Amino acid sequence: RAGELKQFLVAITESFESLAQYKQIEFVRDINLDDKAYWFDQDKTEKIVTNLVANAFKYTPAGGTVTLSATLVHHQHLSLVVTDTGTGIPHEEQEHVFSAFYQTKQAASQQQGTGLGLPLVKELVKLHNGTIVLQSEPGQGTTLTATIPVSKDSFPASVVVDDRDAFSPFHIGHQT
Ligand code: ATP
Ligand code: MG
Repeated sequence: RAGELKQFLVAITESFESLAQYKQIEFVRDINLDDKAYWFDQDKTEKIVTNLVANAFKYTPAGGTVTLSATLVHHQHLSLVVTDTGTGIPHEEQEHVFSAFYQTKQAASQQQGTGLGLPLVKELVKLHNGTIVLQSEPGQGTTLTATIPVSKDSFPASVVVDDRDAFSPFHIGHQT
């Protein structure tokens, strides 16, 4: 079955459309993928995307814009770029936001949360042998770029569950 990754990304971000309306934030989904099937871990990919997009909405005031861009690099890596026009992160705090329970001083005083979203995202990206890069300008906004492999070769053979007949072809998980 083709097109699964593209459809999957559209489906898991659909629910943010109503949050966008409610918070009066423009949500741009720029999902530039072909309709081929790619190998990816549904659970981990969903957690990565939804945590990054949720943060963008949380730290962006009304009138702002949240953009999710998804592109394939050399048909082997999925590049996920989440950009917002929100509060940004002070330079001196940027190195800490991937640590468990860390919230910026501003966020800790104003926003709900536990400070576990980005540490989880970082671990999940690491499990994929992927990368994550933070760029942020206080008062202007934040961009997080996560790159994860989506070709079958990039997963160890032991975790590839090729159960095309039983499940959707993009399922990759630990064999039990
Ligand atoms: P949780 O995700 O556990 O509900 P959280 O959003 O506070 O809580 P993280 O997602 O780990 O925790 O983010 C850590 C901190 O990094 C946040 O508290 C916030 O200060 C900062 N941060 C994360 N994403 C953004 C963003 N898009 N814009 C501004 N600050 C951000
Ligand atoms: Mg968060």
